[in-house]
Amino acid sequence: MTVSQYFSGLFRGIKSLLIGMNVTLKELFTKKVTQQYPENRKTLVIPPRVRGNLTMPHDENNEHACTACSICQMNCPNGTISVKSEVIQTEDGKKKKILAEYTYNLGRCTFCNLCVLSCPSNAIVFSNEFENALFTKSKLTEKLNKEGSKLREKKKEPKPSVETGSVEKENAKNIKVPTKEEGTAIAPKTEVPVQKEDTVAIEKAEKETTNQRATDVALNEIKKEEQTSVEQKKTDESKEKE
Ligand code: SF4
Ligand code: SF4
Repeated sequence: MTVSQYFSGLFRGIKSLLIGMNVTLKELFTKKVTQQYPENRKTLVIPPRVRGNLTMPHDENNEHACTACSICQMNCPNGTISVKSEVIQTEDGKKKKILAEYTYNLGRCTFCNLCVLSCPSNAIVFSNEFENALFTKSKLTEKLNKEGSKLREKKKEPKPSVETGSVEKENAKNIKVPTKEEGTAIAPKTEVPVQKEDTVAIEKAEKETTNQRATDVALNEIKKEEQTSVEQKKTDESKEKE
């Protein structure tokens, strides 16, 4: 190794060291992104799209939106959901299918969200709750419909009341129908003038019809004359033979 090679290698090393130290110095003053979990559990902010646990929201009347159609169960790729239903008789004597038990096995869920997307009633959602660690595997299976809960009835559109109808009738009565004289005054009758072009066309059509009739009569007469001449010839020939 020559002296020049020794010094060029030394300077390359120092340059590399300074570049590394520059990166370290910059990171020293940038904003920290590391979360001190679980110490910061109270201030932890979870993004809204995090899929932690499947839930079935219930309202203050302990009602949910699940119709027990089992579409989510059919769409789940690994049998995580089990929907049990039962048929009841309503007050008006009709049979109705209701949800008996909605079971979700967290241990088998891949958080693909297919069940939520396929639900036609928006009855299930993923919550942000992600602390699902347990010591017993069987506890990962949970029932999502609460005890005593029932299906939320859809609000029916109110039909127009009798009173509303009567108001409309009243309005109809109040519409003033103009008398004959008033109507005439508003929209006077006007005779539609016959245009000159129309008259010419009618006359032309009449002329054509007359000409056609005359031609037909002439043709008939010619035919008759021909027939009589042929008959005359035949009679003359028969006389000559005699
Ligand atoms: S997220 Fe996917 S795997 Fe989990 S229950 Fe829904 S469909 Fe099944
Ligand atoms: S959660 Fe939705 S898709 Fe599943 S059974 Fe209930 S209504 Fe049907």
